Amino acid sequence: MKILLDIQDKNITIEEDSIQIKKHQGILAKFISAKLTYTPTHCECCGVKNENYTVYKNGTKTSRITLPMSGIYPTFLNLKKQRFFCKACNASFIARTSIVKEHCFISYHTRAKVLIKSTDAQSLTDIAKDCSVSTTTVQRIITTEAKKYEPYYHALPKHLSFDEFKYAKGQMAFEYVNGENGISSIF
Ligand SMILES: [Zn+2]
Repeated sequence: MKILLDIQDKNITIEEDSIQIKKHQGILAKFISAKLTYTPTHCECCGVKNENYTVYKNGTKTSRITLPMSGIYPTFLNLKKQRFFCKACNASFIARTSIVKEHCFISYHTRAKVLIKSTDAQSLTDIAKDCSVSTTTVQRIITTEAKKYEPYYHALPKHLSFDEFKYAKGQMAFEYVNGENGISSIF
């Protein structure tokens, strides 16, 4: 089951008889139940080493995580995440997983699928439907990713190289290059 769903996190166990097909937002969807647990080496809040049960398991919190569609149904993972309590700092924290960002409900695989689809000529509505997310989510994922590639114009690099050269039909062009990373602009 984990192979079918491309779930590589070793701390996730799919529960027995875990598949349910039921209506969700007006359409049939597949819900798979699983559990995420492990023994933490440290407390995530104060950093104390987990020796002699300083950090102990204390209940679970279930998140509904959107996965890429499996078969013909939109697919969700009802993931029971382990909660931990630290006796050293009296704080609790929740188990982490590699399939979804903290405090987020859209799996990394679904985010990747949205981004791959966004490079095709497809409307936001089509991508949203194929990935079982809202159009707002599709837009947000694309915008977040695009921001990583926005050039930074607010300061000049320490080393700047520039040159002018002739190009098409004898026109002149001006090029300047950031000497540190090789990123160039041409006018
Ligand atoms: Zn602690």
